[in-house]
Amino acid sequence: MIRRKLIAGNWKMNKTAADGVALIKDITAEIGRLGSVDIVVCPPFTALESAAKALEGQSVKLGAQNMHPEKSGAYTGEVSAEMLRSLFVSHVILGHSERRTYFAETDAFINKKVVASLANQLKPILCVGETLAEREAGQTLAVVQKQTEGGLAGVTAEQITNVVIAYEPVWAIGTGKVATTAQAQEVHAFIRDLLTKLYGAPLAQKIRILYGGSMKPSNAPELLAEKDIDGGLIGGASLEARSFIDLVK
Ligand code: PGA
Repeated sequence: MIRRKLIAGNWKMNKTAADGVALIKDITAEIGRLGSVDIVVCPPFTALESAAKALEGQSVKLGAQNMHPEKSGAYTGEVSAEMLRSLFVSHVILGHSERRTYFAETDAFINKKVVASLANQLKPILCVGETLAEREAGQTLAVVQKQTEGGLAGVTAEQITNVVIAYEPVWAIGTGKVATTAQAQEVHAFIRDLLTKLYGAPLAQKIRILYGGSMKPSNAPELLAEKDIDGGLIGGASLEARSFIDLVK
């Protein structure tokens, strides 16, 4: 089973709308129509509309970094799936460890978002991963299992191939400490087994599992050569055109 690689840039709280357009122009000039890999950029909400315009006619897709599960209403500061769809957003990062840590997002709340995103034709990039303390306590697989099963509750077999999972060990995010290929592959294979138990092998083989955490052009080839690593969720290295392009290439 050949899964197309997917590289997603998570800009986090960086780039004004104008900065975002400039970065997208640089990226698309070089890899805007690359056929062999799926590319997604995830700007902050304020840069989505201008990013969508800059991406017109390109194969690079647009993602958001979060959303609220409700359709509309009194949720000050939040945006809905429908609002994202209206800006030509196709993907949405959900359950990022920064949301879990700084905004106290639980698996149950993240699950509501996953379900709402799929109901609105958005493809969720569900992030899971253990902290350093959890790894040292030997809890990595248990944590990843709980977050994966919790995040996917109620997701049907018809929907699951629209889900992307991102394994991001918290201790590797923005730290320059990348997981070894063996550490990453072990968890990716574990997630694939879990998906096989939940949805059966044919579907589990189609689901893309990204690695995230200090991925950059120098370490990407080794990680991406692993059997169950189907792409990357890139923070720091996605903020600059050269490193993002090199990574994609
Ligand atoms: P990083 O971030 O590449 O800067 O480590 C990855 C992420 O948080 O998605």
